[in-house]
Amino acid sequence: MTWQNIIGHDRVAEQFRRAASRGRLAGSFLFVGPSGVGKRTFALALAKSLLCEKRTPQEFNACGTCPACRQLNAGNHPDFYYVAKPEDKSELPLELLIGGKEQRGRSGICYEISRKPFAGGYKIAVIDDADSLNTEGANALLKTLEEPPPHAILILIGTSAAKQLPTIRSRCKMIRFFPLETRELAQLLEQQGIAASQERAMRLAQSSDGGLELAKAFCDDSLDEIRDEFFRELSLAVPRSVPFAIKLNEFVDAAGKEAILRRKRLRLLLVMALDFYQNFGRMIERADPQQLKNRDLTPYFQNASAAYRNDVFRVNRSAYYTLEALEQIDRNVQLPYIVDVWLHNLTNG
Ligand SMILES: [Zn+2]
Repeated sequence: MTWQNIIGHDRVAEQFRRAASRGRLAGSFLFVGPSGVGKRTFALALAKSLLCEKRTPQEFNACGTCPACRQLNAGNHPDFYYVAKPEDKSELPLELLIGGKEQRGRSGICYEISRKPFAGGYKIAVIDDADSLNTEGANALLKTLEEPPPHAILILIGTSAAKQLPTIRSRCKMIRFFPLETRELAQLLEQQGIAASQERAMRLAQSSDGGLELAKAFCDDSLDEIRDEFFRELSLAVPRSVPFAIKLNEFVDAAGKEAILRRKRLRLLLVMALDFYQNFGRMIERADPQQLKNRDLTPYFQNASAAYRNDVFRVNRSAYYTLEALEQIDRNVQLPYIVDVWLHNLTNG
């Protein structure tokens, strides 16, 4: 049975149901887990369950039809706040938390949840992209996290505990979200109409590491054009650096004028590369094709085995260089430069 149609997180839902029915819900939470496993969807469902006007202490399901549920669906419930890092920023802006310079302490999410709930019940705030909180932002939250107003629930959403500042970690109750099982993710892809058939859903799920966002991104048809050539190059161990770099840069540029789109596309390619190296490494170490998560890659591993001479350290180094390149995307480094350094590192092993 799933809670509020949320696939894969029944255990977490049960934990909240029990705490809420005993009136022992904490005030500050930190949701951590890989992107695309449903943390934001879960936070919204939780808010809905808590703000639903038909809620009883035993019931933990939102009715979906009362005024509060309808306001939440429409994104205008007066007791629910959501902030996230804008796409063109690398950090969560301070004004979203405590107001801009002119209105410091009189607007922003900390101020909003300090006020009395309009509808009675709770005031709930979700701070998404908590990985991108800088020290100043984290400090601004400390007081609210430490002593949340009695009616307030603050939910921070990040990808891992390690990416949060210790001051944040120590003040929140940590809730871990695990990657979805391949079967669960496939079910979700079909349910949301992202994959047209069960077979396509399974195939996408297998290459998406338990995350919906990645699976959605892999639906980009243009990836199918470059996919085969991309993996063939990676399986050479020494990719034909210059022509390959030109090809990759062209493909990234074709994503569109906006830098965000180009960054997204390079990120996708690098995630595919990382998946390649991680699966290949697993194959060498265990030498058991049954253990592979992404079977689609198997045909490329034969060439790669010869090229890498099954040197697992070299494969791990390639994975490491790929992770480094992914981090550079987050730091807004110029994309052609990232591609150059990445290929240079791969080539020199
Ligand atoms: Zn309701």
